[in-house]
Amino acid sequence: MSSVQQDQRDAASESAGELDAVVVGAGFSGLYMLHRLRDTLGLSARVFEEADDVGGTWYWNRYPGARCDSESYFYSFSDRLSEDLLQEWTWSERFAAQPEILDYLQHVADRYDLRKDIQFSTRVVAAEYDDATGRWDVRTDDGGQVTATYLITAVGCLSSTNLPEFPGRDSFRGDSYHTGTWPHEGVDFTGKRVAVIGTGATGVQAIPEIAEQAAHVYVLQRTPNYDIAAGNRPMDAEDGRKIKANYREIWQTTRETGFGFPYDAPNRTALSVSEDERQQIFAEAWERGGFRLGTTFNDLLLDADANETASEFLRERIRERVDDPEIAELLSPRDHPFFTKRPPLENGYYETFNRDNVTLADVRKAPIQEIHPNGVRTADAEYEVDSIVYATGFDAMTGTLFKLGIRGRNGLGLQEKWSQGPRTYLGVATEGFPNLFMITGPQSPSVLSNMPVSIEQHVDWITDCLRYLRDNGLDTIEPLREAEDDWVDHHNEVTQMTLLPQANSWWVGANIPGKPRNLYPYVGGVGTYRLICDEVAAQDYDGFGQGSGGSARSGEFNGTARAKFIDIVSAAPAAS
Ligand code: FAD
Ligand code: NAP
Repeated sequence: MSSVQQDQRDAASESAGELDAVVVGAGFSGLYMLHRLRDTLGLSARVFEEADDVGGTWYWNRYPGARCDSESYFYSFSDRLSEDLLQEWTWSERFAAQPEILDYLQHVADRYDLRKDIQFSTRVVAAEYDDATGRWDVRTDDGGQVTATYLITAVGCLSSTNLPEFPGRDSFRGDSYHTGTWPHEGVDFTGKRVAVIGTGATGVQAIPEIAEQAAHVYVLQRTPNYDIAAGNRPMDAEDGRKIKANYREIWQTTRETGFGFPYDAPNRTALSVSEDERQQIFAEAWERGGFRLGTTFNDLLLDADANETASEFLRERIRERVDDPEIAELLSPRDHPFFTKRPPLENGYYETFNRDNVTLADVRKAPIQEIHPNGVRTADAEYEVDSIVYATGFDAMTGTLFKLGIRGRNGLGLQEKWSQGPRTYLGVATEGFPNLFMITGPQSPSVLSNMPVSIEQHVDWITDCLRYLRDNGLDTIEPLREAEDDWVDHHNEVTQMTLLPQANSWWVGANIPGKPRNLYPYVGGVGTYRLICDEVAAQDYDGFGQGSGGSARSGEFNGTARAKFIDIVSAAPAAS
């Protein structure tokens, strides 16, 4: 067939709703995936996006103070997408605010002409695998229907908001907002009494900004966090030049380190140095700002005594900044080790509690009992307010996936299969769901990393996998049960080596009543995980059944993933 005839045939299939790939979501993940599918592999692909524009997280989270916690120069696409874009784009602040990140993603969409293959304002409501045709049947809320060989979820780990079922919640007569679906026109809190529920990364960003405007802010805190000073500032020209000159090495480091950050990861334990030296190391990391404090020693997530040194360092910073010692103590975490819940970065958060118009309420001691027409009633107080801000987070990692109504072979529902918690192979695929790929799915590093690095790694791995299938005359791939079981066991074993299970964090699903308690992201490290995935690919996708026309029943499992992990760990120098 000539290339013209091939193009005509592709166009006809596409207009009949028969695609090579459907991607759901147009944030960082969906944009890059579309580019790879269409422009690298030459496949026909359509992205469905519920919002009316690209951006994902940065489209929805427009609350005051919203900005990234990864430094902007590495919270972006890397040289994998384009070295030119890295050189051309200049971030105005060390931690860019939401509008600037949204601008960036819009620019990427324009630059690669991605919008023409994105159907906006369209929600995927069902995605069912047809055993007879070996294709995914995807339905949308506008009544649309397409079929595709490959279904790729780019729906984000933090895209389904969590709005707790407080009794009387809907009786409130004032205005209420969830930070994750903030009004585009913004909110003017001038002269208003505002209750903010939640002091995670979002609340910590929003509260200082709301307090600048409002008549009074009641901060309803259930659990204090170890907030770290971000050290935000405008990017100076010299910093910008140095970064641009070193971008290749910067990105290489992000791909090799544990959390996808280009920070040094010294191979030393916290208790191996003297108290003075430890304090100096913490102080230096604190001065430099951002998440560096988490990478000062290599055992902070492994050893409770080591962790306590960092935890106490951070509590001391709170006491220094908050005038009232009782409030400082209330803001000091005592129930979980540092970094077993995601530590927020803050910009003037603690000083906010020195203001006369801010009241901190302990809703752990006196829980919220109800929302009533005039405000919030807790076990020991009444807060009459004009507005309520829910900074109560997300049903993370699985919430949005389940809403897609995914059904695999024999009509098996994803939610049903994962009723006791996710079961995946490498966090990217799951048995019984052929040709389904999940970008930053559960049991991959995902939210335990600087996410663009993990997103790119998944997208590139999926791209290579699809190319491999094509080169081998195949079109169907699916994890083997034994490979999946092995990955789940490995994931759980690595989790148990850390302190992470100790905290009631959203990382373990503790924020959603009834959600199975598991560590959802993989904590083996971004660099290690990448090597594991690459090795699985190099071994002809060991552990994946492969075939054609919907049948992926032949395949081998030689334990490549676990063997690679053991190799990496055994080769690592012993910690001092
Ligand atoms: P998203 O950006 O969440 O995009 C998913 C898209 O899928 C959304 O647009 C959604 O509308 C769409 N979608 C979902 N379901 C459907 C459906 N059924 N039909 C159609 N469309 C659907 N990570 C970091 O590494 N560093 C940071 O500094 C950082 N800051 C953050 C700040 C905030 C406020 C939040 C909430 C998260 C932050 N994150 C950060 C995590 C952030 O989510 C990721 O960095 C990244 O933006 C995720 O991109 P994504 O494309 O995978 O998902
Ligand atoms: P979150 O971390 O889950 O915090 C939710 C807050 O709401 C917590 O303080 C929680 O208290 C509280 N809460 C929930 N239900 C409650 C209830 N029934 N009663 C009282 N309090 C309740 O959510 P988030 O702050 O939106 O952040 C989620 C994640 O998004 C972050 O961890 C981060 O990964 C990402 N994020 C990143 C940035 C950034 O990088 N700049 C900014 C914002 C968000 P408990 O702690 O007691 O559960």
